[in-house]
Amino acid sequence: MRIILFGAPGVGKGTQAKILSTKLNIPHISTGDILRDAIEMKTPLGMEAKKLMDKGELVPDDIMVGIFRETLKGEKSKNGFILDGFPRTVAQAKELDKLLNELNMHQKKIVAITADEEEIVKRLTNRKACKNCNYILALDETKDNNCPNCGAKDSLYQRSDDKEEVIKKRLFIFNSTTKPVLNYYELYSNVIYINGIGQVEEVNQRILSRLN
Ligand code: AMP
Repeated sequence: MRIILFGAPGVGKGTQAKILSTKLNIPHISTGDILRDAIEMKTPLGMEAKKLMDKGELVPDDIMVGIFRETLKGEKSKNGFILDGFPRTVAQAKELDKLLNELNMHQKKIVAITADEEEIVKRLTNRKACKNCNYILALDETKDNNCPNCGAKDSLYQRSDDKEEVIKKRLFIFNSTTKPVLNYYELYSNVIYINGIGQVEEVNQRILSRLN
């Protein structure tokens, strides 16, 4: 199965993608995680991306298209994937369609998770991520900086783009540049809308029941 998970920053895409990846046994591809790994490894791409990510801006389409082409052509995407954070612009969506056609991957499910902006800002300002496994959790889920998912010590941190000023910018870009991607898909495909408010498992069940 090929799933494109769509939604505003903080709506729970990453969390849901990880669970779906385990339950459906298909890889989770997060372009945000790929960029953060490049930053961690201090590659030229990582250094360039960091400047933009810290400001809440998007990395240019040509760079992102290059990254996902490499990733999707890889062996591990052969039997399906869950895309999280890509496409974020109409140009990326068109490039993705082109590549999927080239690879004879015609079927895909587009799942849009929704939540109101107030809830999103609350979630983003109250979360931490694990440097080691990219797990995301709410601040009140942990008393120390150790990851409850992979057990890594002192690995939890607040993402530099989860600060209030940057969040506002990310939401602005989502509304102005990323939301039109849904209009693009709606022209020829059935978009599955999922209410993202509720317990993680509850939201996950909503997605699974609509995918079947
Ligand atoms: P995420 O982890 O998906 O919230 O992504 C974090 C940041 O990485 C975004 O705010 C962008 O700066 C950058 N990014 C991730 N995916 C893309 C993409 N498809 N296009 C452009 N920038 C991206």
